[in-house]
Amino acid sequence: MSATLDTAPHPVAAPARLRQNLALDVIGVSHAYDLDGRSLPVLDAIDLSLAPGEFVALLGPSGCGKSTLLRLAAGLERPTVGEIRADAVPIEGPDPTRLLVFQDPTLFPWRTVWKNVATGLEARGLLATHRGRIEEVLQLVKLDGFAAAYPHQLSGGMAQRVSIARALVNDPHLLLLDEPFGKLDSLTRLVLQQELAALWREVGFTALLVTHDVEEALLLADRVIVLSERPARILGEFRIEEDRPRRRDDPALVALRRTVLERLGIPHVPI
Ligand code: ADP
Ligand code: MG
Repeated sequence: MSATLDTAPHPVAAPARLRQNLALDVIGVSHAYDLDGRSLPVLDAIDLSLAPGEFVALLGPSGCGKSTLLRLAAGLERPTVGEIRADAVPIEGPDPTRLLVFQDPTLFPWRTVWKNVATGLEARGLLATHRGRIEEVLQLVKLDGFAAAYPHQLSGGMAQRVSIARALVNDPHLLLLDEPFGKLDSLTRLVLQQELAALWREVGFTALLVTHDVEEALLLADRVIVLSERPARILGEFRIEEDRPRRRDDPALVALRRTVLERLGIPHVPI
């Protein structure tokens, strides 16, 4: 394991059953919002490359611009300066190969789990040909048997699994995860972290995860990027070379957790 400031992507081993991933390049991206006629700088000269199949986690203070970076990668907004490329092609708008999963599952309450997962396929006119895929992804997220349930009948963890299934059914090559487990109780979060790790290994998508949970970042990611206060700059980068599956109590990860927290400006003091 090493802690470096080297921003080049590493080639990633190919354990995936299906290869469905893409290379993401964030090149000199700065972004500002217009706030009552004045400019609010949010991202400052971000350079970041993800190799196909790589899992990268972003950590940074609240309000620094993490969600903005994900929205830019999803093509929901265009950067003020710089460019973002998917497989070397400039991103100019949303695409089902690059999907966002939010903290809040935002399921349609009047639709069953099956119909919620079907939404994307339906919108793209693919439901007739890809119906079988819905059952497959429900199995992947361990929700087979709940296809007929409605959102109000699900726990928070199950609802977030539906949200992940709703993205996976489109076979995304890049999954952008915006604090996906942030609202779950801590025990459910542990289970979903383990499930996401297994899902990533099995499906093989490229992943960019925003989280406030340092342990989560170190367990799941190949690299952890630490961002500054707004406007976000890259303050540090940590490559995690521990073999998978990883253990929470791995002494090397525990030591790295302390280093990452220090980079985030949170000193190690007994409480
Ligand atoms: P983070 O996800 O790191 O908490 P965000 O990317 O959501 O941060 O937001 C960064 C900053 O940009 C915040 O100060 C937020 O208020 C501001 N912001 C986000 N979206 C908009 C918007 N559409 N218009 C104006 N300001 C925004
Ligand atoms: Mg956010």
